[in-house]
Parts: sequence; C-alpha cells; structure tokens
Amino acid sequence: MTALAREIAYGAKSLLQGLWITILHFFRPNTTLQYPRERPVLAPRYRGLHGLTAAPDGDLTCIGCGSCAKVCPDQVITMKAEKREGHKGRYPVEFEIDLNSCCFCGLCAEVCPTAPKALVLTKEYEFVASDRAGLVLTREILLENGRLEVEKHGYVGLKEEGAEEAQAA
Ligand code: SF4
Ligand code: SF4
Repeated sequence: MTALAREIAYGAKSLLQGLWITILHFFRPNTTLQYPRERPVLAPRYRGLHGLTAAPDGDLTCIGCGSCAKVCPDQVITMKAEKREGHKGRYPVEFEIDLNSCCFCGLCAEVCPTAPKALVLTKEYEFVASDRAGLVLTREILLENGRLEVEKHGYVGLKEEGAEEAQAA
C-alpha cells in the first residue's frame, strides 16, 4: 500500500470514529445547561463564596480566634479583633478575604470553632469583578453573603452540621 493510500485509510477511520461518537452522544441526555436559564444542581457540600454569620441584631458570630487566618494555606484572610462589651470572645473589627489567591479549599470554615459556624462557604458561585481589588471580600460583603445565603437557602453553609456537632459534643 502506498503512503497516500495509508493516509487516506487512516483519515477515513478517524472520520468514522468521530461520527460514531457523535451518533452515540446524539441519543444520550444533554449534559450541558442553558445557563443562566437553567441552573446546576450543587453538591450538598459545594464550596462557593465565603460568608460571615450573624445574630438577627447583626452581632457577628465570630469570636476573633484567628484560627481561619492561621490555617489558610494561601494566607488570604486578614483579620483584626478586639474585646467588646457583651460579645463572647473578641469581636472582629476587620475581616477580609482576598479571592485573588483563594483556592476554595474550605479549611477556614472547617476549623471555625463556633456553632453555628461564624465563617462558612456559601452556595453562591456567581461573582464578578473588573479588577483585582474587586475580588477582596470585605467584612460588609461577607456579612451580606451570609445574610443572602439564609434568605436563598434557609441556612448558611455548614450551619446545621456545626450545630449538630456542638450538640453531640
Ligand atoms: S477557602 Fe482555603 S484558601 Fe480560601 S480563604 Fe479559606 S482556607 Fe484560605
Ligand atoms: S471566623 Fe471562626 S475561625 Fe475565624 S476568627 Fe472568627 S471564630 Fe475564629
């Protein structure tokens, strides 16, 4: 067989293989979504944007222990806490998470010792910024994320699990 005939045979075989895969997928259910009209079903432990939880009066659950900042492998959490009358532990006066380097590992929420968790990863995945500064979640944004999570899903991240753990302890 000449080189040309071999190339033609190889091309025809590749073409038929491609067509066969197309035909197979033609009869399978779609795996793509018509976003944003259609929304994905998220895994129960999906890790989206961070949020801070608070009491109904706005008092943050955070006790300023700093564990989240210490455990963060990307060192993107900046926080400052101080003593405040009537608040258990210390109160976070500054709290920022820089999403530019965050890998969404969820360790910060895992180590948070309060019940419900003061810091959670919500189910929110829609977030856009036009520059790097816009990807820094300030304390106010984090608080709003936590509030929206309750509004949309009726709970915040691992709140239920945290409460159960606390009860079991
Ligand atoms: S999700 Fe991981 S990388 Fe992101 S802030 Fe939390 S601990 Fe750090
Ligand atoms: S968010 Fe949780 S881990 Fe982080 S400082 Fe507050 S209480 Fe500690």
